[in-house]
Amino acid sequence: MDPRLLALLAAPFIGSFLGVLVVRLPASRTVVWGRSACEACHRRLAARDMIPIVSFLALRGRCRSCGTPIGRLHLWIELAALAVAASAAIRAPGPGALWADCVLGWGLLALAWIDARTQLLPDALTLPLLLAGLAATYWLDPAALGNHALAALLGYGAFALIALVYRLLRGRDGLGGGDAKLLAVAGAWLGIAPLPWVVLVAALLGLAGAAALAARGQVMRATTALPFGPFLALAIWIMRLG
Ligand SMILES: [Zn+2]
Repeated sequence: MDPRLLALLAAPFIGSFLGVLVVRLPASRTVVWGRSACEACHRRLAARDMIPIVSFLALRGRCRSCGTPIGRLHLWIELAALAVAASAAIRAPGPGALWADCVLGWGLLALAWIDARTQLLPDALTLPLLLAGLAATYWLDPAALGNHALAALLGYGAFALIALVYRLLRGRDGLGGGDAKLLAVAGAWLGIAPLPWVVLVAALLGLAGAAALAARGQVMRATTALPFGPFLALAIWIMRLG
């Protein structure tokens, strides 16, 4: 089977798993492969109720037993995982790069979603994604491993330094340690040269996001916490595909 087709078929199931990860990982609950029961009536879900995207549409977004609307989070994240696979498939120079891109994209998707919900970037996700970036580099382009490993250190160091200066000047935390680790992930996957672009694109996306919130009437203060992780994740994905 064409690996691109395989990636597209697998994506909604991966998205289903990411949905469980997004809900349970920050709450330190057990992460299992999929949702197992209705969250309202606790009826165990049958296999036909757990097909990503398809079941939601077939059930018109309601539990088969109690009729309680099913949260949209799972549907959106399954569609987003599909979009990740589709954008990776368009670029893919070969099956190896395709699967590597999917791993990065799906990991970034989970991290962005968790950061948006909880303002946290769990080490349990950033660190494996960093190691996966070095492993993928070694697998696809062994000669670039040194550059990418150095880029991970530089990414972490540069962000940690900015956060430290910010804390000294403003007396409070502006950027989380998780953002530094996410920039280390960027370095591991992209190498040194694209790193400044990742920061620039993320900052521009962040400004656009803040402007969009302000336009919707939300009061933006210097202290309004806008998680930076989702913008950083999107910038990494743009630079990877660019
Ligand atoms: Zn139910």
